[in-house]
Amino acid sequence: MKIYNTLTNRKEEFVPIEENKIKMYVCGPTVYNFIHIGNARPYVVFDTFRRYMQFKGYDVSFVQNFTDVDDRIINKAKEENVSMDVISNRYIDEVNKDAKGLNVLPATHNPRVTEEIPEIIEMVKDLIEKGYAYEKNGSVYFSTEGFADYGKLSNRKLEDMESGQRIEIDEEKQSPMDFILWKPKNDKEYTWESPWGNGRPGWHIECSVMAKKYLGETIDIHAGGEDLVFPHHENEIAQSEAVNGKPFANYWMHNAFLNIDNQKMSKSKGNFFTLREVSEQFSYEVIRFFLLSGHYRSRINFTHDILKAAETSLTRIKTSLANLKFIYENSNVLNMTEEENKFLLESKKFEDDFIKSMEDDLNTADAISAIFEFVRFANSNVNENSSKEFAKNIYDNMFKLCDILGMEELKEDNETDKEIEGLIAKRQEAKKSKDFAKADSIRNQLLEMGITIEDTRAGVRWHRL
Ligand code: AMP
Ligand code: ZN
Repeated sequence: MKIYNTLTNRKEEFVPIEENKIKMYVCGPTVYNFIHIGNARPYVVFDTFRRYMQFKGYDVSFVQNFTDVDDRIINKAKEENVSMDVISNRYIDEVNKDAKGLNVLPATHNPRVTEEIPEIIEMVKDLIEKGYAYEKNGSVYFSTEGFADYGKLSNRKLEDMESGQRIEIDEEKQSPMDFILWKPKNDKEYTWESPWGNGRPGWHIECSVMAKKYLGETIDIHAGGEDLVFPHHENEIAQSEAVNGKPFANYWMHNAFLNIDNQKMSKSKGNFFTLREVSEQFSYEVIRFFLLSGHYRSRINFTHDILKAAETSLTRIKTSLANLKFIYENSNVLNMTEEENKFLLESKKFEDDFIKSMEDDLNTADAISAIFEFVRFANSNVNENSSKEFAKNIYDNMFKLCDILGMEELKEDNETDKEIEGLIAKRQEAKKSKDFAKADSIRNQLLEMGITIEDTRAGVRWHRL
């Protein structure tokens, strides 16, 4: 598989450190509010990457942190007169609800900063001992001039960056690009003791510590949104490589931003949407499908109309799957004919196109086009006269591709499907024993659930309204 590596600025063949294993770290959210629709993009993109690699047979260790100490969390805690963990626990729960809605697989580990403080202090101490960091008045800074590779991810030269900055007279930093590892704070409630006095860790150090603790000194893939390349990921590389003396991550993947009506989302412009509020208008499944309909390194635009179009497209795929299912469950012909066998072989092409697109730096946009080609093919070649075996094979193959993209909400649908099918069976029994009042009342009950039924030669068909 080819992955575009931000570190080398080109697509590279993916080679894991250990055969069949992937160690992957994705920067997670700061938990002081609901996540917004843009934050949903890295969730869905890197979950799809993970699902695809698992489909290819890799065992993926997937670590995503929660930043649960931050001024924004503390301010909210003060406003509400509660402790910091009341706020962070609340929004971790909400993020998890959203992620589950988006059908994102749970991470292998979700470390939280407040639970990793001793390890953070250890790494800061280590950086000082190795000469990469210095302490000044209770603050600890990373000395960028001491790390020769500083700027290699974002393609910047330290001299150029420094010349654009000035050190303020009262600043403690030795050089303008130095960044903070530990900051002194007075309020007892939100600080930890350290060799440099009471304080809190800077933002960047947490990811270096957590990646090392949960995945090791060198990991396969590090990922996040494009805004994190500089300074966050550049600083993570500096910290980790300085302390470990080894490459930090072999591949760096970054998703492009999501814009609203072609504009950057911002609270002040009034074009800011939480994922939760969007999910009240469009299902999570539609949002996920929309997020995958563009390549992850292209900006995508979010508008009501685009979401509506995504909804229609997704319905076309789901209707095709439902038709195939109906046919294989109700067909009286068991085995494939020779012609069907030929069609089935021909349909392999759609899977091949799908895989080819995914292999090319996770091109989900083209992968979805391949699914649409498959839908067109199925709609014109599978019908009520087809054999069970043929319809089932086509269904399974199409379903497999949708499942790799995490498009099918399997469990929930299956639960309601079972209930619907149970009611339909009861209605059939009532009709058989000529209890038409009961049959009608079951039909009405189904209607109330948003299900219409149709009696056909091959049996009862049902649709969601
Ligand atoms: P934050 O809470 O701002 O650190 O963001 C969490 C994740 O969402 C990071 O990987 C960001 O890069 C990503 N992100 C933030 N805003 C957007 C956006 N508008 N579009 C896509 N990704 C975003
Ligand atoms: Zn990070």
